[in-house]
Amino acid sequence: MRLCFATQNEHKLQEVRAILPSFITLVGLAEIGCFEEIPETADTLEGNAQLKAQYVWEHHQMDCFADDTGLEVAALNGEPGVMSARYAGPQKNAQDNCAKLLQELGNTENREAQFRTVICLFLKGEKHLFEGIVKGRILKELRGHQGFGYDPLFQPHGHEMTFAEMTPQEKNNCSHRAEAIAKLKGFFKNQ
Ligand code: IMP
Repeated sequence: MRLCFATQNEHKLQEVRAILPSFITLVGLAEIGCFEEIPETADTLEGNAQLKAQYVWEHHQMDCFADDTGLEVAALNGEPGVMSARYAGPQKNAQDNCAKLLQELGNTENREAQFRTVICLFLKGEKHLFEGIVKGRILKELRGHQGFGYDPLFQPHGHEMTFAEMTPQEKNNCSHRAEAIAKLKGFFKNQ
């Protein structure tokens, strides 16, 4: 079956293609001719994932899933959450976002945080949600150069390294996104 992953990120597409069973031909937005800017105006991760998947279902009549991820920091009442990409402004700059997070937390002792990924699948017009969570803490300074976004500040519980000090494989073994994708894969296994 052909299934669209509503992303323009070729890296994400490759990663997920390698995980899903071979009866699924995974295509990105470019391959279905969807070059429009899909609105991401919801105020929750679930809402934004749904907006993207539903858009493709309605405008391109294709089974589709979309993901949305946020970093939820306990001492900041769950922020930056759905605003993670744009935390320090519309330039969506990871360095600026990390700097803002460190500034907002200051010397706060409670550094508890979680990454949460939500996947919304529209299959034959029916909606299915999958969630992946990894809990950890926010360090007081950046450590490591791999990964992206808030990786240099996030140390998952049970690990000595930050996400930015891990190889992609090590991060994949414990990440929020990998957990959500594993649940999506499990769903298709049972179809
Ligand atoms: P997206 O929904 O995957 O585009 O993620 C939204 C934003 O959350 C990104 O721009 C990053 O700032 C942050 N983010 C998502 N996943 C990760 C991750 O695995 N590590 C670090 N930051 C992430």
